Order: sequence, then structure tokens, then C-alpha cells
Amino acid sequence: MTETIYDLIIIGGGPGGLTAGIYAMRAAMKTLLLEKGVAGGQLNNTEMVENWPGTVQIGGAELAERMAAHAASYRLPTRNIGVTEVEPGIDHHTVRLENGEELRTHAVILATGGSPRRLGVPGEDENYGRGVSYCAVCDGFFFRDKKVVVVGGGDAALEESLFLAKIAEKVSIVHRRDAFRAGMILQKRVQAEPRIEIVWNTVVAAITAGSEGVNGVRLKNTVDGGERSLPTDGVFVFIGFVPNNGLVPAGTRLNANGFVTTDEKCETTIPGIFAVGDLREKYVKQIVTAAADGCVAAQAAAHYVENRKNSG
Ligand code: NAP
Repeated sequence: MTETIYDLIIIGGGPGGLTAGIYAMRAAMKTLLLEKGVAGGQLNNTEMVENWPGTVQIGGAELAERMAAHAASYRLPTRNIGVTEVEPGIDHHTVRLENGEELRTHAVILATGGSPRRLGVPGEDENYGRGVSYCAVCDGFFFRDKKVVVVGGGDAALEESLFLAKIAEKVSIVHRRDAFRAGMILQKRVQAEPRIEIVWNTVVAAITAGSEGVNGVRLKNTVDGGERSLPTDGVFVFIGFVPNNGLVPAGTRLNANGFVTTDEKCETTIPGIFAVGDLREKYVKQIVTAAADGCVAAQAAAHYVENRKNSG
């Protein structure tokens, strides 16, 4: 039996990977999408999406489902399995799976996204799931009429604070500077929400807990160094993302923060290996830009594979 060689293997089923899948199927490529969790990626942790053009408002999980259904309508072959390694080769690249299987492919699109950055303070790891959370949509429900602290000053921190303010009695946003990084619309909404208080120029130095879980945070003022305790039932951390770059082959160029550097075709420094979405170094990380990357990378991969087949 001759071994299957795929035209394209896509790793990751978020907006970037699914859009790549749609375009690859439309380009009649022999494609496989590998996803170890649920389709949609971080969309599943987003309560409401309000900037997906053509849809004024849609739940993150619903948009994820729709994207997956759209890809399935093109009969995109998909496997629910983890990948352990991507090894670049001359004739083809090899993708190794957690069950020991090895798959061969001409092109790879890495769409593995990012994970929440951790604070790295005492009490954080020990209390994960006991009051420390990185997902308000997942865990907010447990804080009905309780006090929560949100750490961060970007879009995610403000958006999730607004979500939590509908559930919790009080939300304290702790931000290390005196100005938010988040967009103006979110800033205005946060400032208008009476259940939200903003603690400027402050970092969380430690998270404290008792037998019932988190019971407070130790705060440190970044201007005068003063410390104080703030009682709280939960700590939600939204201080950005670290790229999930564990499958990026050695030798691929990354920027100083570990995001993959690509050209305008989303191709990495290794021919035939592409990176899309939050894994890629770029100016704006949004659902719409992840989807755009998926389109670009799939089109570029189609040309790459066609050229290889014509020249080989
Ligand atoms: P982000 O934009 O990188 O913001 C991270 C925030 O955390 C910043 O305010 C940063 O402070 C703070 N921070 C970083 N490290 C910290 C530390 N060690 N201790 C305390 N604070 C720390 O990350 P994000 O909010 O997760 O957003 C990621 C990307 O997704 C962005 O491009 C964002 O626009 C996008 N996004 C968009 C939406 C939307 O459009 N609705 C929603 C969610 C996310 P400084 O400001 O001082 O650096």
C-alpha cells in the first residue's frame, strides 16, 4: 500500500485553522486538520463577539460552532488528536501524533494560538481552580454576589470585567499603570459600570487562600512601593498571551517574545511551513485577523504544493 502524503496538514482548529481548512478544501488540496481539544480555540472562552463583520453580536462558542460547521460542509477531514512534533524534511514534512503515528505532508499550517500568561506570584499555581482563573466565561458563574479581582489593562481584562460585573458583587481591576491599553469603547463601558472599581498603578504581589480557596490578594503600589491586602473571593488574570510555540520546528525564526516571524504569505523561515493567528508575530490579534491569516496561508500553501508537484 502506498503511503498517504497530504498536501496540507493544519494543526489547530481555532478561527485561523478552520478558515485555512475552508480555503484548502476550496482549492481541492488533500488536507487534514488536527485538533486536540474542541474546535474554535479561544473563541470558546469568549462570551460575546461584537467585531466579526456582518454579525453585530454573537456568542463566542456559537461562532466557533458555526465555523466548524462551515469547514465540515466542505468535508474537511479532521482528527481529534494531539501532535507531538513537526519535523521539516526535503521531500516532505513529518507530523508525529501522540499515539505514535507519523504523517507525511508537503505543507503544514501551524495554528496553535496562545495560552494565558501567568502572573508568576506566590499562591497563583496552588490556587488554580480554587479561586484563580484565566477564563471568566468558564468560571464566573462560581462568583455570584462575591468579590473578584481582575488583573490586567488590555481588551481581555476589560471585556471579562464587564462580563464578571453582571455576576459578581464587585470587580476590582488591578492594573500596573495609570492608563489602560484596551480600546476606548471598552474603557468607557468599564468606567460607566458601578460594580467595577479600578485600582491604578498596582500589581498583585501574592494571592492568599484558606481552606475554602482564595481569600485575598497582597497588592503593591508601583509608584510608592506601598503594600496592602485586599480581601477577594477570586482572582481572574488577563495579562496577555504566550504563544503555543512548542510544535514550531527548531531553526524557525521567532521574535523576542516567542511569536513566529513570517512573511506576508504567513510562511515561516522553513519553506512549506506556515503560521497563522495568535501564534504569528503581527500588529493586531483578533478573530478576524486570525481568519485572514488562515485564508492567506492556505492560498500560499496551495501554490507552494502545486509548484513542488510541477517541479518534481
Ligand atoms: P494585551 O493587550 O497584551 O494586554 C495585557 C495587559 O496585561 C496589559 O494591560 C499589560 O499591561 C498587562 N500585563 C502584562 N503583563 C503583566 C504582568 N506581569 N503583571 C501585570 N500586568 C501585566 O493582552 P489581552 O488583553 O489578552 O489581548 C491580547 C490580544 O487580543 C490583543 O491584541 C487584544 O486587542 C486582543 N483582544 C481583543 C478583544 C476585543 O477586541 N474585544 C478582546 C480580547 C482580546 P501594560 O498595558 O502596562 O503593558
